[in-house]
Amino acid sequence: MRLHLCNCFNATFAAADSPSGASAPQSGGPVERSVFEDLAIGSRICAAENVFDAFGHLSVRHPTAPDRFFMTKSMAPALATADDIVELDLESNPCAGETRPLFLERFIHSEIYKARPDVQSIVHSHSPSVVPFGVVGNPMRAIFHTAAFIAAGVPTFDISQEFGETDMLVGNRDKARALTRCLGDKSVCLMRAHGSVVVAPSLQLAVARAVYTEVNAKLQLQATMLGGPIAALSESEGRIADAVNIAGVGRPWELWKRQALRRMREEAELDD
Ligand code: MN
Repeated sequence: MRLHLCNCFNATFAAADSPSGASAPQSGGPVERSVFEDLAIGSRICAAENVFDAFGHLSVRHPTAPDRFFMTKSMAPALATADDIVELDLESNPCAGETRPLFLERFIHSEIYKARPDVQSIVHSHSPSVVPFGVVGNPMRAIFHTAAFIAAGVPTFDISQEFGETDMLVGNRDKARALTRCLGDKSVCLMRAHGSVVVAPSLQLAVARAVYTEVNAKLQLQATMLGGPIAALSESEGRIADAVNIAGVGRPWELWKRQALRRMREEAELDD
Protein backbone atom coordinates (compact mmCIF):
# COMPACT_ATOMS: atom_id res chain seq x y z
CA MET A 1 0.00 0.00 0.00
CA ARG A 2 1.19 3.51 -0.84
CA LEU A 3 1.32 5.88 2.09
CA HIS A 4 0.18 9.44 1.45
CA LEU A 5 3.64 10.86 2.04
CA CYS A 6 5.04 14.19 1.12
CA ASN A 7 7.78 14.21 -1.43
CA CYS A 8 10.24 15.99 0.79
CA PHE A 9 12.92 13.42 1.48
CA ASN A 10 15.16 14.27 -1.42
CA ALA A 11 15.81 17.81 -0.31
CA THR A 12 19.36 18.63 0.64
CA PHE A 13 20.33 19.37 4.20
CA ALA A 14 22.14 22.36 5.46
CA ALA A 15 25.34 21.43 7.25
CA ALA A 16 24.73 20.17 10.77
CA ASP A 17 24.86 23.11 13.06
CA SER A 18 25.84 23.28 16.67
CA PRO A 19 26.01 26.23 18.96
CA SER A 20 29.64 25.25 19.62
CA GLY A 21 29.44 25.54 23.36
CA ALA A 22 28.92 29.28 23.15
CA SER A 23 27.36 30.96 26.16
CA ALA A 24 23.63 30.51 26.69
CA PRO A 25 21.36 32.85 24.71
CA GLN A 26 19.87 35.85 26.48
CA SER A 27 16.14 36.15 27.15
CA GLY A 28 14.04 37.94 24.56
CA GLY A 29 12.80 40.15 27.38
CA PRO A 30 10.04 40.08 29.97
CA VAL A 31 6.46 39.17 29.02
CA GLU A 32 3.09 39.48 30.72
CA ARG A 33 2.45 36.73 33.26
CA SER A 34 -0.70 35.86 31.27
CA VAL A 35 1.52 34.45 28.47
CA PHE A 36 2.84 31.81 30.88
CA GLU A 37 -0.59 31.24 32.42
CA ASP A 38 -2.20 30.67 29.02
CA LEU A 39 0.59 28.28 28.05
CA ALA A 40 0.05 26.23 31.22
CA ILE A 41 -3.73 26.33 30.80
CA GLY A 42 -3.45 25.41 27.12
CA SER A 43 -1.31 22.41 28.08
CA ARG A 44 -3.94 21.33 30.62
CA ILE A 45 -6.74 21.82 28.06
CA CYS A 46 -4.97 19.58 25.55
CA ALA A 47 -4.65 16.92 28.26
CA ALA A 48 -8.31 17.24 29.27
CA GLU A 49 -9.50 17.07 25.65
CA ASN A 50 -7.62 13.83 24.91
CA VAL A 51 -4.88 15.43 22.79
CA PHE A 52 -2.12 14.87 25.36
CA ASP A 53 -1.55 12.05 27.82
CA ALA A 54 1.64 12.08 29.88
CA PHE A 55 3.40 13.20 26.69
CA GLY A 56 2.94 16.03 24.23
CA HIS A 57 3.84 19.72 24.29
CA LEU A 58 2.44 23.14 23.48
CA SER A 59 4.64 26.16 22.77
CA VAL A 60 4.14 29.83 22.01
CA ARG A 61 6.48 32.28 20.32
CA HIS A 62 7.77 35.18 22.41
CA PRO A 63 5.34 38.05 21.68
CA THR A 64 8.07 40.66 21.10
CA ALA A 65 11.17 38.56 20.29
CA PRO A 66 10.34 36.29 17.32
CA ASP A 67 13.60 34.33 17.76
CA ARG A 68 12.55 33.07 21.18
CA PHE A 69 9.71 30.78 22.30
CA PHE A 70 8.24 29.35 25.47
CA MET A 71 7.18 25.85 26.50
CA THR A 72 7.10 24.00 29.81
CA LYS A 73 10.07 22.12 31.15
CA SER A 74 9.93 18.37 30.47
CA MET A 75 6.83 17.28 32.41
CA ALA A 76 3.34 15.86 32.05
CA PRO A 77 1.33 18.69 30.46
CA ALA A 78 -1.70 18.09 32.69
CA LEU A 79 0.40 19.30 35.65
CA ALA A 80 1.75 22.47 34.01
CA THR A 81 1.74 25.78 35.89
CA ALA A 82 2.98 29.25 34.94
CA ASP A 83 6.08 28.56 37.07
CA ASP A 84 7.13 25.67 34.80
CA ILE A 85 7.77 27.71 31.64
CA VAL A 86 11.21 27.79 30.00
CA GLU A 87 12.44 30.15 27.28
CA LEU A 88 14.39 28.78 24.30
CA ASP A 89 16.06 30.23 21.21
CA LEU A 90 15.50 28.93 17.69
CA GLU A 91 18.30 26.36 18.13
CA SER A 92 16.31 24.98 21.10
CA ASN A 93 18.97 26.17 23.54
CA PRO A 94 17.54 27.34 26.87
CA CYS A 95 18.12 30.98 27.76
CA ALA A 96 20.70 31.92 30.39
CA GLY A 97 20.03 30.62 33.89
CA GLU A 98 17.76 27.72 32.88
CA THR A 99 18.76 24.40 34.41
CA ARG A 100 15.52 22.40 34.35
CA PRO A 101 15.13 19.35 32.08
CA LEU A 102 13.86 20.05 28.55
CA PHE A 103 11.67 18.07 26.16
CA LEU A 104 13.67 15.80 23.83
CA GLU A 105 11.51 16.85 20.87
CA ARG A 106 11.71 20.62 21.47
CA PHE A 107 13.49 20.90 18.07
CA ILE A 108 10.10 20.39 16.37
CA HIS A 109 9.09 23.78 17.72
CA SER A 110 12.31 25.69 17.05
CA GLU A 111 12.63 24.54 13.44
CA ILE A 112 8.99 25.32 12.62
CA TYR A 113 9.26 28.80 14.20
CA LYS A 114 12.41 29.36 12.15
CA ALA A 115 10.74 28.38 8.85
CA ARG A 116 7.23 29.74 9.42
CA PRO A 117 7.02 33.40 10.52
CA ASP A 118 3.21 33.09 10.40
CA VAL A 119 3.24 30.47 13.18
CA GLN A 120 2.90 31.74 16.74
CA SER A 121 2.02 28.51 18.52
CA ILE A 122 2.61 24.77 18.02
CA VAL A 123 1.18 21.56 19.47
CA HIS A 124 3.02 18.26 19.17
CA SER A 125 0.96 15.31 20.38
CA HIS A 126 0.32 11.61 20.15
CA SER A 127 -3.40 12.37 19.95
CA PRO A 128 -4.68 8.79 19.79
CA SER A 129 -7.43 8.93 17.15
CA VAL A 130 -5.04 10.74 14.79
CA VAL A 131 -2.21 8.18 14.97
CA PRO A 132 -3.91 5.54 12.74
CA PHE A 133 -4.11 8.05 9.86
CA GLY A 134 -0.31 8.22 9.88
CA VAL A 135 0.08 4.52 9.09
CA VAL A 136 -2.50 3.99 6.33
CA GLY A 137 -2.80 5.31 2.80
CA ASN A 138 -6.17 6.93 3.54
CA PRO A 139 -5.54 10.67 3.98
CA MET A 140 -7.18 12.74 6.68
CA ARG A 141 -9.97 14.96 5.32
CA ALA A 142 -12.07 17.76 6.82
CA ILE A 143 -15.25 15.95 7.88
CA PHE A 144 -16.92 18.99 9.46
CA HIS A 145 -16.57 22.77 9.35
CA THR A 146 -14.96 23.08 12.77
CA ALA A 147 -11.97 21.20 11.37
CA ALA A 148 -11.93 23.28 8.16
CA PHE A 149 -8.16 23.87 8.34
CA ILE A 150 -7.69 20.17 7.50
CA ALA A 151 -9.18 20.73 4.02
CA ALA A 152 -5.93 22.40 2.92
CA GLY A 153 -4.31 18.95 3.08
CA VAL A 154 -2.54 16.87 5.72
CA PRO A 155 0.90 15.48 4.76
CA THR A 156 2.51 12.55 6.59
CA PHE A 157 6.12 12.67 7.73
CA ASP A 158 7.82 9.27 7.61
CA ILE A 159 11.04 9.63 9.57
CA SER A 160 12.44 6.40 8.09
CA GLN A 161 12.63 7.89 4.60
CA GLU A 162 15.63 10.01 5.54
CA PHE A 163 16.84 8.52 8.77
CA GLY A 164 16.23 4.77 8.46
CA GLU A 165 15.18 2.85 11.54
CA THR A 166 15.11 5.16 14.56
CA ASP A 167 13.36 5.53 17.93
CA MET A 168 10.79 7.59 15.92
CA LEU A 169 11.50 10.71 17.99
CA VAL A 170 12.23 14.05 16.34
CA GLY A 171 15.09 14.60 18.75
CA ASN A 172 17.50 16.78 16.78
CA ARG A 173 17.58 19.68 14.35
CA ASP A 174 18.02 17.61 11.18
CA LYS A 175 14.97 15.48 11.93
CA ALA A 176 12.95 18.55 12.90
CA ARG A 177 14.01 20.30 9.70
CA ALA A 178 12.79 17.32 7.65
CA LEU A 179 9.47 17.36 9.51
CA THR A 180 9.17 21.12 8.93
CA ARG A 181 9.73 20.64 5.19
CA CYS A 182 7.00 18.00 5.16
CA LEU A 183 4.60 20.34 7.01
CA GLY A 184 5.24 22.98 4.33
CA ASP A 185 2.62 25.71 4.50
CA LYS A 186 -0.03 23.45 6.06
CA SER A 187 -1.55 23.59 9.57
CA VAL A 188 -1.27 19.88 10.39
CA CYS A 189 1.32 17.21 9.65
CA LEU A 190 0.98 13.59 10.69
CA MET A 191 4.04 11.70 11.89
CA ARG A 192 4.10 8.02 10.92
CA ALA A 193 3.63 5.67 13.89
CA HIS A 194 4.12 8.58 16.28
CA GLY A 195 1.62 11.46 16.32
CA SER A 196 1.16 14.84 14.74
CA VAL A 197 2.08 18.49 14.81
CA VAL A 198 -0.45 21.32 14.59
CA VAL A 199 0.46 24.98 14.05
CA ALA A 200 -1.52 28.22 14.23
CA PRO A 201 -1.20 32.01 14.34
CA SER A 202 -2.21 32.07 18.04
CA LEU A 203 -2.01 29.82 21.09
CA GLN A 204 -5.80 29.68 21.38
CA LEU A 205 -6.10 28.57 17.77
CA ALA A 206 -3.30 25.98 18.06
CA VAL A 207 -5.12 24.40 21.02
CA ALA A 208 -8.46 24.47 19.19
CA ARG A 209 -6.93 22.97 16.04
CA ALA A 210 -5.26 20.20 18.03
CA VAL A 211 -8.58 19.38 19.73
CA TYR A 212 -10.52 19.41 16.46
CA THR A 213 -7.88 17.33 14.67
CA GLU A 214 -8.51 14.64 17.28
CA VAL A 215 -12.31 15.02 16.93
CA ASN A 216 -12.11 15.01 13.13
CA ALA A 217 -10.12 11.76 13.18
CA LYS A 218 -12.89 10.05 15.17
CA LEU A 219 -15.57 11.42 12.84
CA GLN A 220 -13.69 10.35 9.71
CA LEU A 221 -13.38 6.83 11.08
CA GLN A 222 -17.16 6.81 11.70
CA ALA A 223 -17.89 8.19 8.22
CA THR A 224 -15.64 5.55 6.69
CA MET A 225 -17.49 2.78 8.53
CA LEU A 226 -20.76 3.96 7.01
CA GLY A 227 -19.27 3.14 3.59
CA GLY A 228 -19.42 4.93 0.27
CA PRO A 229 -17.68 8.12 -0.87
CA ILE A 230 -17.00 10.84 1.71
CA ALA A 231 -18.22 14.35 0.80
CA ALA A 232 -15.68 16.16 2.97
CA LEU A 233 -15.08 19.92 2.78
CA SER A 234 -13.35 20.99 -0.44
CA GLU A 235 -10.23 23.09 -0.21
CA SER A 236 -12.20 26.28 -0.94
CA GLU A 237 -14.94 25.39 1.53
CA GLY A 238 -12.17 24.82 4.04
CA ARG A 239 -10.74 28.30 3.46
CA ILE A 240 -14.13 29.98 3.83
CA ALA A 241 -15.09 28.03 6.96
CA ASP A 242 -11.68 28.43 8.57
CA ALA A 243 -12.02 32.23 8.51
CA VAL A 244 -15.14 31.86 10.70
CA ASN A 245 -13.34 29.47 13.05
CA ILE A 246 -10.39 31.84 13.43
CA ALA A 247 -12.71 34.73 14.25
CA GLY A 248 -14.66 32.62 16.74
CA VAL A 249 -11.84 30.85 18.59
CA GLY A 250 -12.58 32.87 21.73
CA ARG A 251 -15.67 30.79 22.48
CA PRO A 252 -14.10 27.34 22.86
CA TRP A 253 -11.03 28.90 24.50
CA GLU A 254 -13.10 30.67 27.20
CA LEU A 255 -15.04 27.46 27.89
CA TRP A 256 -11.97 25.23 28.08
CA LYS A 257 -10.04 27.79 30.12
CA ARG A 258 -12.82 28.12 32.67
CA GLN A 259 -13.04 24.33 32.98
CA ALA A 260 -9.25 24.09 33.40
CA LEU A 261 -9.21 26.80 36.07
CA ARG A 262 -12.02 25.03 37.95
CA ARG A 263 -10.05 21.78 37.91
CA MET A 264 -6.97 23.64 39.15
CA ARG A 265 -8.95 25.11 42.06
CA GLU A 266 -10.36 21.67 42.91
CA GLU A 267 -6.85 20.18 42.86
CA ALA A 268 -5.59 22.97 45.13
CA GLU A 269 -8.43 22.32 47.61
CA LEU A 270 -7.66 18.60 47.66
CA ASP A 271 -4.00 19.38 48.30
CA ASP A 272 -4.85 21.57 51.33
MN1 MN B 1 6.43 12.75 20.27
